[in-house]
Amino acid sequence: MKIGVLALQGAFIEHEKMLRSLGVETVQVRLPVHLDGLDGLIIPGGESTTIGKLATDYGLMQPLRDFATYKPTWGTCAGMIFLAKDLGQHHQPILGLMDVTVNRNAFGRQIDSFEADLDIAVLGETPYHAVFIRAPVITQAAPQVEVLAKFSDDQIVAAREGHLLATAFHPELTNDTRFHTYFLGMIKSSES
Ligand code: GLN
Repeated sequence: MKIGVLALQGAFIEHEKMLRSLGVETVQVRLPVHLDGLDGLIIPGGESTTIGKLATDYGLMQPLRDFATYKPTWGTCAGMIFLAKDLGQHHQPILGLMDVTVNRNAFGRQIDSFEADLDIAVLGETPYHAVFIRAPVITQAAPQVEVLAKFSDDQIVAAREGHLLATAFHPELTNDTRFHTYFLGMIKSSES
């Protein structure tokens, strides 16, 4: 299995390390040609406006959209913003594929980074320790979107829509590999 990590800006090296620890080959995606032959793609956390600007400059917007329209793609934090269809007031380049409304910097400046234990049924009984850094949340999700985790009643922080996965937090900054393993499972089931 070969998974690409969008490597324009942000925490892509940490994702690569975690994937390699799980025995997966990784590719840094900076140009459209790097998407060839990949089984899945991770869009990392970072700064979504910068990722969008660089993706536009490198001619990656449409190739990324074409890839993520049918191949398993996971956005973490800024990557979740990049995957969403609706950002409310914010106007910036996004792929616009996942049928969710995302509120950027939803936790404000005062508590811009924090950690929390979440119950995530698809990962099993043990709570998942999530790291939030200037995190967005999903405030609205279409009926076909599966909510995987909430921070509060109206703050969705992990969701899946078919082959698309989004997390508001940073699984690559912990030692818990369960979310990456879950994504690998999505890829395996999409290929079988
Ligand atoms: N706040 C950032 C943005 O709007 C996302 C932060 C992150 O990825 N850790 O893009």
